[in-house]
Amino acid sequence: TDHRRPLVAGNWKMNGLQAALAEIDRIAAGYGEALKARADLLICPPATLIAAAVVRAGAALRIGGQDCHPQPSGAHTGDLSADMLKDAGASYVIVGHSERRADHGESDALVKSKAEAGLKAGLRVIVCVGETQAQRAAGQTLDVVGAQLSGSLPGGATADNLVIAYEPVWAIGSGLTPTVKDVAEVHGFIRAQLGKELAAARILYGGSVKPSNAADLMGVANVDGALVGGASLTARDFLAIAAVY
Ligand code: PEP
Repeated sequence: TDHRRPLVAGNWKMNGLQAALAEIDRIAAGYGEALKARADLLICPPATLIAAAVVRAGAALRIGGQDCHPQPSGAHTGDLSADMLKDAGASYVIVGHSERRADHGESDALVKSKAEAGLKAGLRVIVCVGETQAQRAAGQTLDVVGAQLSGSLPGGATADNLVIAYEPVWAIGSGLTPTVKDVAEVHGFIRAQLGKELAAARILYGGSVKPSNAADLMGVANVDGALVGGASLTARDFLAIAAVY
C-alpha cells in the first residue's frame, strides 16, 4: 500500500454548531471521484459534532477528534477517551496540538500517552510538533522539533497509523508561513528521525495554509498533505486546498 497517499485534514478547533454540519455536506459533495483516487480528506470538528458529522460525511470523508485522554474510561470529568471517539465513528485523533500544549500545559510524555491511547483504540493518530517564534529566532527549531518527536512518538506506531504534523506555532492563525526551504528542512529532518520503520508515515504541514499558498507548500519534498485550521471552516476553501492534489 502507498502510505504516502496525501492527507488533507481540517481542524475546526472550538468552532462549529449544528448548523456547521452543512459544511460537512458540502465537503462530502465536493469530494469527487478524481480527488478520492488521489487524496484522503479528514475533518476534525468539535466532539459535540463527531457522531452527526460521521453520518453526514458518508463513506469517503473521514471524521476525527481533536484530543483524547490517555485512559479508556474513568473518573476524568469533561474528558473524552479515544474509545469514545472511535465509538462515535471517528477514525483519526489529533494529539499534541500547540494550543493544547500551551492552554493545558501538555508535556511530550502526556502527548505520547494520548497517542498510544488513540492507537490502542484503533484510531490513526496525528501527532503535532512545532517551534515557537522565539525558538526559531534562537536557531533551535530542529532541536525543539527533534525533542518533541522523540518525546511524543507513540509505541506501536506504524507508517499507516501514525501521521506527523509539523506546525510552527508562529504560523498558526497568523497568516505567516515558513519559506518552502525552511519547510523542506524541517520535513526532511522529521523524515530522517522517523527512521526506517516509519519512513513511509505521512508528514503534514500546518500553519496558515490557504488556497493561495497550498500548491507551493504541498509541493515541498516530504510534505504529504496539510493540517488546516481556519481555512477548513468553509467547504469552499478546504476543497480549494485539497484540489492541489
Ligand atoms: C492549526 O491550528 O492546526 C492550523 C494549522 O491553523 P491555521 O490553518 O488557522 O493556521
